[in-house]
Amino acid sequence: MQHKDGFMVPVLSSHLMLRNSQGNPEMYCVDIDLTETRKVQAKIEHLAYFDELTKLPNRRLFLDRLNEEITVARRNSISIAVLYMDLDKFKSINDSLGHAVGDELLKQVANRIKDQIRLEDTVSRFGGDEFVVLLKELSNSPEVAANQSQLVAEKIRTAFDHSFNIAQHKISVTLSIGISLFSAENNTAADLLKQADTAMYLAKETDSNSIRFFETAMQEATDAQLLLGKDLRQALVREEFFLLYQPQINLDGKMIGVEALLRWRHPRRGIILPDQFIAVAEDTKLIFQIEAWVLLTACRQLKAWEHLYKNIDFQISVNISLLKFSTADFVSHIQGIIQEGRVDPQRLRLEITERVVNENIKDTNIKMHALNKMGVSFSIDDFGIGYSSLNHLKTLPLDQLKIDRSFVNDLFQGPKDEAVIETIITMAHTLGMNVIAEGVEKNEQVRFLSEKGCDTFQGYHFDKPLSSEMVTERFLH
Ligand code: C2E
Ligand code: MG
Ligand code: MG
Repeated sequence: MQHKDGFMVPVLSSHLMLRNSQGNPEMYCVDIDLTETRKVQAKIEHLAYFDELTKLPNRRLFLDRLNEEITVARRNSISIAVLYMDLDKFKSINDSLGHAVGDELLKQVANRIKDQIRLEDTVSRFGGDEFVVLLKELSNSPEVAANQSQLVAEKIRTAFDHSFNIAQHKISVTLSIGISLFSAENNTAADLLKQADTAMYLAKETDSNSIRFFETAMQEATDAQLLLGKDLRQALVREEFFLLYQPQINLDGKMIGVEALLRWRHPRRGIILPDQFIAVAEDTKLIFQIEAWVLLTACRQLKAWEHLYKNIDFQISVNISLLKFSTADFVSHIQGIIQEGRVDPQRLRLEITERVVNENIKDTNIKMHALNKMGVSFSIDDFGIGYSSLNHLKTLPLDQLKIDRSFVNDLFQGPKDEAVIETIITMAHTLGMNVIAEGVEKNEQVRFLSEKGCDTFQGYHFDKPLSSEMVTERFLH
C-alpha cells in the first residue's frame, strides 16, 4: 500500500465482505504493516547463510551453490573445482595474541582470498580457520581444469606472501590448499568436499604452505602441464614450432585457400597438437609471442607462394585467440606484419571464435572494421558450439562462417542435425557470409553439404594438414 508520505509499505491484507440488514454489501479490511517483519526476516536469512565475522557465505549457502553448479556442470559438460584451505598454525596465533587479533586476522584473510578469485566464484568460511572456494565453469578437459585450479590456488598462496598488520603486530601466515575436481566419478557435493578436505590434510602433512590435488593422477597431470609450460618457454627460442597448411576446397574441387595450423616438435614427446598446449600458452601468456610467430610465418609463406597463385583466388587463414585479439595493439600488430611482409591483405583471413564476438562487442567491432578496411577478412571458427547473438553477428564485417566439425561429424544420425546445418547455411547466406564446413571426412557429407549450399570444404576427405612443400605441389597440378 502507499503510505500517505508517498512510499510503498508491504502489508498483509485481509478483506471480508458482509451484507448489512438492507442486503447491501460492506467491505471490512485489516492491513498489517510488514516492514519490521521483513527486516527481521532479512536479518535471520543473513544469519542463516552468512558468517557473522567475515560476512562470507557460510557452509549452508556454499552447499546450495555447489549443488547448483554441479547441475550446471553436468548439463553443460564443464568442470568445477573445490579448494579447501586452512591456515597453518592459526591456533598458536590465536592463543598467543588473543582472540580479538585472531578475529581481525580472519577478516583480513577472507578479503585477501576474495580479491584473488573471480566475482562469479564463491569463497566461504566453514568456521574456525577453514575457507572453501568454489570455482565454476572450468574446462571439460581434466588436465586443463586441473591447471586452471592450480593457477588460482597459486594466486591465493602468493597473496599471503606479504604479512598482515593487526594492532601493531606484523603477522605472517601461510595456508595449505586441497583441490578436488568435478568428474563423472565424483560428482556429489559431499564427494567433492571430502576429497578437497583430504587433499588439504595431505598438503599439510607433506609441507605447510603447499597445494595438493585429491587424486595422484590429477596431481601428475598438473605436474605435466607445469612442465609443459616451462618447455613452451624454450620452444620459441629453440624454434620448435612449425606450421602445417590444410587446403580449403571449393565446389569445383579447386584449392582456394589454406588454414595455417600450429605444431610443436617437442624434443622428448614428439609432435604435440595445439589442443594440448594452447591453454597452457594462454595461462602463461606465451600465446602472444607464439601467435606473433604464427602470423609472421604464415605471411612469409603467403609471400613465397605469390608467384603460384597470382591470378587465382587464394587466402591463408590464421587462428587468433581471444587473448591475442583483445590486446590493445592488435590492429597495429597485424598492420605491421602486412606491411613488413609486403603481403596482399586481401589474402589474409583471421579465424576468430564466437567467444571473441561475445566478449567485448564494442571493442571487437572497432578492431574488425579497422582491419576489414585494410582488406583483411574474417571467418568465425567452430560456429555453432558457442553462443553468439545474431544481433552481434550482423553488425560485424564477417565474410565467412565455419561450421564446427562436430555438426559435420554428427550428420545422418538424425533429422535434427541435418536441419541444424541447413539452418546455419541459410542464416549465413542471409547475413552475406559464405560457408565453409570443417572436418569433412566422407563423400556423403560433401554431397549433403553442397546440396544445402555450403560453399567450401576442409577436411581429411580432401587433405590432411600438409607441409608447405606439399601445398606447393598441390598448386602445381
Ligand atoms: P580449428 O581452427 O577448428 O582447426 C581445425 C582442426 O580440425 C585442426 O586440428 C585440424 O587438423 C582438424 N581437422 C581437419 N580436418 C579434419 C577432419 O577431417 N577430421 C577431424 N577429426 N579433424 C580434422 P588441430 O590442428 O589439432 O588444431 C586444433 C585447434 O587448435 C584448432 O581448431 C585451433 O582452434 C587451434 N589452433 C591451431 N593452430 C593455432 C594457432 O596458430 N593459434 C591458435 N590460437 N590456435 C590454433
Ligand atoms: Mg580454425
Ligand atoms: Mg574449427
